[in-house]
Amino acid sequence: MTIILAVTNQKGGVGKTTTAVNLSAALALTRRRVLMIDFDPQGNATTGSGLDKEALEVTVTDCLLDGVPLERAIVASEAAGFHVLPANADLTAAEVGLQQQEGGPGRLRELLAPVAGRYDYILIDCPPSLNMLTLNALAAADAVLIPLQCEYYALEGLTALLDTVDQVRETLNPRLHVEGILRTMFDARNRLANQVSEQLIEHFGDRVYRTIVPRNVRLAEAPSHGMPVLRYDKTSRGALAYLALAGELVRRTGTTTVPGGAAPGQGTSDTGNSTQEASDGSEETRTGTQP
Ligand code: ADP
Ligand code: MG
Repeated sequence: MTIILAVTNQKGGVGKTTTAVNLSAALALTRRRVLMIDFDPQGNATTGSGLDKEALEVTVTDCLLDGVPLERAIVASEAAGFHVLPANADLTAAEVGLQQQEGGPGRLRELLAPVAGRYDYILIDCPPSLNMLTLNALAAADAVLIPLQCEYYALEGLTALLDTVDQVRETLNPRLHVEGILRTMFDARNRLANQVSEQLIEHFGDRVYRTIVPRNVRLAEAPSHGMPVLRYDKTSRGALAYLALAGELVRRTGTTTVPGGAAPGQGTSDTGNSTQEASDGSEETRTGTQP
């Protein structure tokens, strides 16, 4: 069974791209077949997966606007260990073009139909707004994964996002639900962060992932080397957090490993049993233990 997740939050800089790339890498390490779709014209998820966004011959834009089949645009990234549907600044044109097309919000869903079955997980890295691209992602997805920074306005923004999810469920996609809310860039020494985190759990209970992604400089450095943190520094606290998140997601979504189904360049470790929370917030602390 394929699970399609839109990694979304209309706020920028909350860790969407970091989560899309590193959760994809962690799922790939657990031998899941993963496709990551870069759906932000900034193309950061493309670059962060080791692809040169300026050198792409076919991008997701060609698929959306000209009906080019997705398989012609999908690249198997050796550096990242998963498949990527790359994007660059051209995607801005698709945002505009789709608004003029009838059935525009459903375009990605149509394009995904013939290839989705080849993957266990498809993660869509959404842009930081509720635009036509995000609508396409929400129409194509089974569920949303919401990265959230525990700061003052976070809950307000979350309410707006959840309203959008409700609207999309009523109009475009009846199966859309919230898979989970992920606390990112967490600093456990920050009192406000802890308060917001508590409120989040009060309101959303087990929809909040147990795994917390700490603020960790390795996560910020890895993209400039064109690789997920699991390749850049697999013992960093950022890497361990995304492995733990993959384990949690796999348990929650109940997917099993497909024998021999791993995409190129993937390792063999299975983190499906990881239980540890990566929750203490001190930056740079390293640990050599597996989650
Ligand atoms: P978004 O896609 O939501 O705009 P990004 O994933 O691009 O957010 O993250 C914004 C910035 O914060 C990037 O420079 C990224 O490298 C950095 N970052 C993301 N998550 C973390 C983290 N857990 N610790 C430290 N830096 C992070
Ligand atoms: Mg982003």
